[in-house]
Amino acid sequence: MVQAIYFDGRSTHATRVEAWRDESVLRWRSASDTREWSAPWLAIEPSARVTGVPFTLHLGDGGHLQIDHDALPADWFARHHLVERMVDWLERRWMAALAGIIVVVASLFGLFEYGLPWAADRIATHMPASVENAMGKQSLAALEGRMLMPTTLPPDRQSHLQAVFWRFTNGMPDAPGVRLKFYQAKAIGANAFALPGGTIAFTDELAAALPDDDAFIAVIAHELGHQANRHMLRQVLRSSGVLIVASMLMGDVTSMGGVAAGIPMFLVDSHYSRGFEEDADRFAFDALAGHGIDPEAFVRAMQALERAHPEWKAGQARYASSHPLTAERIARAHAASRRFQAARAPRVASR
Ligand SMILES: [Zn+2]
Repeated sequence: MVQAIYFDGRSTHATRVEAWRDESVLRWRSASDTREWSAPWLAIEPSARVTGVPFTLHLGDGGHLQIDHDALPADWFARHHLVERMVDWLERRWMAALAGIIVVVASLFGLFEYGLPWAADRIATHMPASVENAMGKQSLAALEGRMLMPTTLPPDRQSHLQAVFWRFTNGMPDAPGVRLKFYQAKAIGANAFALPGGTIAFTDELAAALPDDDAFIAVIAHELGHQANRHMLRQVLRSSGVLIVASMLMGDVTSMGGVAAGIPMFLVDSHYSRGFEEDADRFAFDALAGHGIDPEAFVRAMQALERAHPEWKAGQARYASSHPLTAERIARAHAASRRFQAARAPRVASR
């Protein structure tokens, strides 16, 4: 009887078991309850024996057993695995070992630099809407009453902005099910953000700072750009670490809670990547122009944001790293505005 760990191949859950050989059958049973399993000996595919690495028995149905290298009975798998012979050969050649280390380091770098964002984006795009909604609700619940307090905007101002929002988003194919919620947020200040599932949280401070409805819509359009590209989900997943992303990629939904908990943290002390901001701005310029609104409104929104955040101008190191773009973004909005004007000019002239 040997101690082993059993993975059934359907979940990432590990079960402690005791395994033994019974003629032509391998049997194993749970160490803590009465469950018992078996597999024909011939269907089992053993891994290579490498010192220090757990020995793995692939069970043919996607499941596997992990046995401590030293605990494996010598007569279980006497045949010499091809990989084992290769490892023997390599172990006698330190140059090959050194090359191996370099390959491992390069692979780890590749995993963090490219593999993790790739996996995060895949998960974000394939996440069921119901799960996304639940994550948005969960993170909003974590923020309400702490950073986000009930709005103090007068009801008629709220209903006016809600009507402007509705006119803009109604029928927009990239914005199904979006909602707008106002909050007083002294800790955050003038800001707006799109949560997974379609809620746009908009602070009273920003609503007060914006000079006109078109500037308000410019902010909304930018947030819809983040929402349509699932930026919040992608960014939080990217920063939530290899283990969570890997287990979600394998279909373990329990790690979702960890991701939802990352959203409030992201809002407090992180920021979108430069590429995400550019994507959201481009989306906003197109959406504004599509509704006959001059993208110049975006410039007024950016300027209002800067006025509401004097610390941005103070050149603090922390600010400089999180908002390097304001001037560039304003320049791009001016350019979008010129394109909008140019596309409009012939129609105006022919009137
Ligand atoms: Zn943004």
